[in-house]
Amino acid sequence: MNSEISIELVSTGAELLNGRSVNTHARLLGGRLEDLGFRLTRETTVGDVEADIADAVRAALERARVVAVSGGLGPTCDDVTREALGGLLGRRLISDAASLEALRARYARLGRALTESRRRQALVLEGAVALPNRAGAAPGQRIELGERVIFVLPGPPAEFSAILEDHVIPWLRAHFPDVRPPARVIFQLCGIAESDAVERLAAAGFDPAPFELAYCASPGNLEIRLRGAPDQAAALAEKANMVRALFAEDIYTEGREDLAAVVGRALQAAGATVAVAESCTGGGIGRRLTAIPGSSAWFRGGVIAYANALKTALLDVPSDTLAREGAVSEEVARRMAIGVRARCGADYGLAVTGIAGPDGGTQEKPVGLVFIACADASACEVRRRQFMGDRETVRRWTEQHALDLLRRRLRRLSS
Ligand code: ATP
Ligand code: MG
Repeated sequence: MNSEISIELVSTGAELLNGRSVNTHARLLGGRLEDLGFRLTRETTVGDVEADIADAVRAALERARVVAVSGGLGPTCDDVTREALGGLLGRRLISDAASLEALRARYARLGRALTESRRRQALVLEGAVALPNRAGAAPGQRIELGERVIFVLPGPPAEFSAILEDHVIPWLRAHFPDVRPPARVIFQLCGIAESDAVERLAAAGFDPAPFELAYCASPGNLEIRLRGAPDQAAALAEKANMVRALFAEDIYTEGREDLAAVVGRALQAAGATVAVAESCTGGGIGRRLTAIPGSSAWFRGGVIAYANALKTALLDVPSDTLAREGAVSEEVARRMAIGVRARCGADYGLAVTGIAGPDGGTQEKPVGLVFIACADASACEVRRRQFMGDRETVRRWTEQHALDLLRRRLRRLSS
């Protein structure tokens, strides 16, 4: 499947090697290429060392048709990508007039002088095409070497993304018009374990052939993908129907939408609102819901209530219930959901209380024990869940399951 067009990324930056930054460029580029039917075939990370950058690019050019190099285009002395490429290809660096003009205008807008070090950002390799950067100062570059091409992109993620979308992807599409997006269906599921999903498919005699079937599990989420050649869309749709039928309401979306966005859409469709009372997630559910544009139409607000006194004062959880049952209990979760719904004037109240760890667990209530409640005008459902993992993992599981509880409630309502 178009595997003849190998595309590599050389990421530069000491911060990618010493634990300070995660390489998000590899993820972004790999994902975008996959969407379009290309593949990122290799990624190499090197520090801000001229010789190392040159070495990595030389090696990549021996294998790949397209080499993207990211980072090190700024004004500082550790930004040496231009020099490394100039040395490797035996080309001079020249100041690109249009880029210099864009820099002049940019720094004038910011009320800053166009100093010598800032001017350096307009340098491109002789023969390179400068790629205007709408998100920052330094332009990207395209350097054609016969059959091969090097794209040079800035390090800051917003700038990398802008150059990728504005220049790299359009060029790839224009040059490789035969490459088409794969036939693909991606299911996102919550509430089913990976091994249970595998068994359910096996028990139903599901055979993915000739398609690629892949699973990707993360806390509270399971992704199932079916992928085939661009012209296999019809046959793939049939397979996808089988998966859809087998998992039904465990599938919350097809594609890559966040569960919070699915919940938001369902609330919007129902003309309903939600409020959240969070203990162990510390506002994570509220953060997820408010990350969705337009959430003010259906998100009323929330309370982060860790102290028992606040659970009583702000959520009307009776203090004797807290004393009798403990803060992590079915009854407290129920009272929190009912309380936040009433106090915030929402149609739904969603509440979580649990032990995220690593301390605070007991024999009876171990780390990872969580109660999740969803209240509406007529009823309150509470789920007891035992999650595994570190603090962040338990919190993530809890967020997902809370959102999923509300999603399922709304789904039943609409069907
Ligand atoms: P600047 O003008 O900001 O110096 P630059 O092109 O020189 O831009 P770098 O100095 O390499 O880029 O990196 C700038 C910022 O972008 C840093 O905060 C760095 O951590 C981030 N960055 C660089 N490469 C990556 C990457 N592969 N993934 C995520 N972040 C990155
Ligand atoms: Mg830099």
